[in-house]
Amino acid sequence: MIRYSLVCEAGHGFESWFPSSDSFDTQVARGLVTCPVCESASVSKALMVPSIARTDRDRTPAAPPPQAEAPVALIAEPERQLRAMLKALREHVVANSEHVGDRFPEEARRIHYGEAEGRAIYGEASPTEARALIEEGIDVAAIPILPDDRN
Ligand SMILES: [Zn+2]
Repeated sequence: MIRYSLVCEAGHGFESWFPSSDSFDTQVARGLVTCPVCESASVSKALMVPSIARTDRDRTPAAPPPQAEAPVALIAEPERQLRAMLKALREHVVANSEHVGDRFPEEARRIHYGEAEGRAIYGEASPTEARALIEEGIDVAAIPILPDDRN
């Protein structure tokens, strides 16, 4: 018997026992292995590398196999949900705001003082610039960049 740590397409991690690795492949191919959470039959072996080892893996020249992109099984559920929320928030901002890049501080001021059309914008500002805007009473918020986004 072999125990595999598995992950479904939705990122749910779970474990299952198989008589052999051939048996695992056969059962997955037939859709007999399903996620206990969402019942998806699209499952693959989870990458069993601690997150701290990722830097080392990134340094290896060989391209990682496709399932290496599913280390979500190693992230605690609350953190995964938080990341998903932050990602959704950022996608909402990107979809509903105008990207002004590093002109953000300037544009935010122009909008605040009525020199430009009032609208939702997003862009980049240094911590100093962001603090200056807040001190002027201009409402700005920082959206964290997630490690995943840098890929
Ligand atoms: Zn699932």
